[in-house]
Amino acid sequence: MIKAGNAAGRQAPVYSLVIPIFNEEAVLPLLVRRITALLDKLDGRAEAIFVDDGSRDTSVIFLRGMAAEDPRFRLIELSRNFGHQIAITAGMDAAAGDAVIVMDADLQDPPEVVLDLVAKWKQGYEIVYARRTKREGETLFKRITANLFYRVLEQMTSVDIPRDVGDFRLVGRKALDTFKRMPERDRFVRGMFGWMGFKQTAVSFERPERAAGETKYPFWKMVRLAVHGIVSFSDKPLRLALWAGLAISGFAALLGVYALFSWLFVSSVVHGWTSTVVIISFLSGINLFMTGIIGLYVGGIHAEVKRRPLYVIDRLTGFEEAVAAMRNAETSKDVPAGRERRLG
Ligand code: UDP
Ligand code: MG
Repeated sequence: MIKAGNAAGRQAPVYSLVIPIFNEEAVLPLLVRRITALLDKLDGRAEAIFVDDGSRDTSVIFLRGMAAEDPRFRLIELSRNFGHQIAITAGMDAAAGDAVIVMDADLQDPPEVVLDLVAKWKQGYEIVYARRTKREGETLFKRITANLFYRVLEQMTSVDIPRDVGDFRLVGRKALDTFKRMPERDRFVRGMFGWMGFKQTAVSFERPERAAGETKYPFWKMVRLAVHGIVSFSDKPLRLALWAGLAISGFAALLGVYALFSWLFVSSVVHGWTSTVVIISFLSGINLFMTGIIGLYVGGIHAEVKRRPLYVIDRLTGFEEAVAAMRNAETSKDVPAGRERRLG
């Protein structure tokens, strides 16, 4: 990891926007226009950090140009597609602002709402999330599954993970530094912010349609996110295995009594093939299911113990200031404590 000091002379921005990008060439020109307008409207110095998550289209070329042109734009290029949650993490690691705002690239998180988030932050809230009141242009299927997911998650975990909240949120320095101290590989970002406490509040907004291009979250990616969310914030599925095991053993014991009873008191008990087959297949099905659940957790442990870096940066653009500051920091020792900044 590169450590860049916020050396003397370099003024940290007040606001950092973090925007993950995966094949978003269709929406980028519009996005950059709206973000520029937002940066002008914010009442303090601001930076916009774009994290390219291994796009295979022209997104990177466009963003490199932007980052070279406007000193407020920065670009982190990851070496491959690491996934949305990791891309967000990379951006937040590099953010130097006192308040960091994470938003999607497709303008489903309208930049104007950021001003409302900032207003709440100024009232003293450390974490301000944007809650979707209406989802436009999303299929009924996506709305129903998303709805179901938030409700199941709520039932499964003891952590307060707010409903209908995605990753569009503002977090203050304290929350961000806490986030950086959470080393887990399996990053369900919204759950992590729910876990850490602090004064949190919500701002409502109507979620518009994607401005251009198509969703980068196909069905299976969504299922994966949902499973990761549950596994990393709840051990209820493991306990489910225990209870199901107990219930089935109880049932089997009853069945045993019944079998013994028939053998003792009923003369002809040769048939019973059907029930044997039914029970065996039922039990092996349950067995596989429970092993699968345990496998999910073992897989999680496996990922954790490998201790690989969360992401790999290929190239940085627009961070020259930070790199220069890093060189300064190496020669001068006057970096204020707690002000150092990490670039992945
Ligand atoms: N994204 C990403 N990496 C991925 C998938 C998505 O960085 O592997 C980004 C994407 O570019 C967008 C955000 O994550 O900025 C949310 O994706 P999308 O809008 O496609 O999700 P949806 O709104 O359909 O759930
Ligand atoms: Mg979207």
